[in-house]
Amino acid sequence: MDKLNNKSFLRTINIHTDCTTAWKDCLSIIKESVPHITYNTWFLPIKPVEISDSALKVQVPNGFFVEWIEEHYNTLINKTINEVLGDSGKLIYTVLDDKKNDDEINVIIKDEEKKKTTDEISNQLVASPTEEPHETSLNPRYRFENFIKGEGNQLARAAAYAVGENPGETSFNPLFIYGGVGLGKTHLIQAIGNKILEYYPNKKVIYLSSDLFTVEFVEAIQSNSVNDFSNRYKSMDCLIIDDIQFLIGKEKTQDLFFHIFNTLHQSGKQIILSSDKPPKELKGLNERLISRFSWGLTTDIQPPDFETRIAILKNKSNSFGINLSNEIFEYIAHNITSNIRELEGCLIKLLANSSLNGKEIDYELTKRTVKEISTKRHVNISIEYITNVVCEHFKVDENKVREKNRKKEVVLARQTAMFLSKKLTKSSLKTIGLHFGGRDHSTVIHAHNTIEEMISKDSRLKQSIGELKNKIEMSI
Ligand code: ADP
Ligand code: MG
Repeated sequence: MDKLNNKSFLRTINIHTDCTTAWKDCLSIIKESVPHITYNTWFLPIKPVEISDSALKVQVPNGFFVEWIEEHYNTLINKTINEVLGDSGKLIYTVLDDKKNDDEINVIIKDEEKKKTTDEISNQLVASPTEEPHETSLNPRYRFENFIKGEGNQLARAAAYAVGENPGETSFNPLFIYGGVGLGKTHLIQAIGNKILEYYPNKKVIYLSSDLFTVEFVEAIQSNSVNDFSNRYKSMDCLIIDDIQFLIGKEKTQDLFFHIFNTLHQSGKQIILSSDKPPKELKGLNERLISRFSWGLTTDIQPPDFETRIAILKNKSNSFGINLSNEIFEYIAHNITSNIRELEGCLIKLLANSSLNGKEIDYELTKRTVKEISTKRHVNISIEYITNVVCEHFKVDENKVREKNRKKEVVLARQTAMFLSKKLTKSSLKTIGLHFGGRDHSTVIHAHNTIEEMISKDSRLKQSIGELKNKIEMSI
């Protein structure tokens, strides 16, 4: 047997019969090879779980660890495991906060190094609604226990919780949750699904985005299995559809969804929907759907206030296993205000930067990281695009805002577009002015001040400009 002649293999089975010793040996090699802070941040929190043959199973605090370690330390881990466990050695990660064992992420050490950028990893971690395939497509990480309460989400959370406890039996059917991007809609509606399964393991719960629903429907048409498709959804006890606004313009999918909705609703099954707007504003969606969406409870999620942002940051950094000073939390919470996904992204970037450069997370690093995030946010938005979205919203011809037209609605659209261009792009006042028919910088300042004043007095205008801003930011 070839294997038995292999020295390292023999060493593996002879010496490392227990996982603690094996991991301890790995750690001592790793410790020599990386800066102290990297070691503390990424390797110390890893705990050995078991060893069998030459596979060492370890537990990491969250999925981000796996991503991060694979991305940055794959070679080191390869080398270390080979040294400690032999050539056939492999490391298997399990994630602590995913309770299910099938969430194991197998990492075979021989795998080619993956080349992903920090941004890709961050995006994946913070944005991806699902990771491992799951029967119900629910991400087990989205739970009520880690959803921070705040004024902006109080009602939505309370309703969601009630539905989770008694699906189909409250008057909140459908439960319709709407709000801007990155505010926790997906988290909350999936938390309901997870709660239902916790209380009623036999209930059939399914979560999917309306986009995926459409894709599956088209596939069903192509394979002549629309009935099966429709029956599958009609047989659910709880149907959760995310981002229902993407059904706009898809007439056939809307028709089918209408029938599924009716069947489920009539038999007291729970329906949960999310959207970026309230039902009435979903222009292009069939009226009969819109009216049904309002049968139950419609509630919004507003951006988190300062205290909630701090609470979220503290909670997340706890789960990442890092300790930051109040000064740092406050700096982030003051500067990232409208999107929880960005708060999370900021912490991840901080961890990444500090780990890469071997530096503690301090005030300076925080300032730089926050700046990086805001620059990235603004770098790709063009003044043309802003003008386009704003004009569409106010139903004004785009050319008119560039001309000397003084009609009230044109002026409002022009000033709003200038206001948002100043807020959302890095362009100078002069450049912004040039885009609006060669107006000078003082006109842009005037527009900005006028809109600021108007929205301080008119809450409807404030809301619609806020929505425009979200829409523009969401598109990049
Ligand atoms: P949306 O679906 O509204 O765009 P998500 O549900 O995807 O937003 O939320 C973005 C990120 O912020 C997710 O990682 C989510 O877990 C987190 N998040 C949102 N709201 C909260 C909250 N109240 N407490 C803790 N984390 C939150
Ligand atoms: Mg979402």
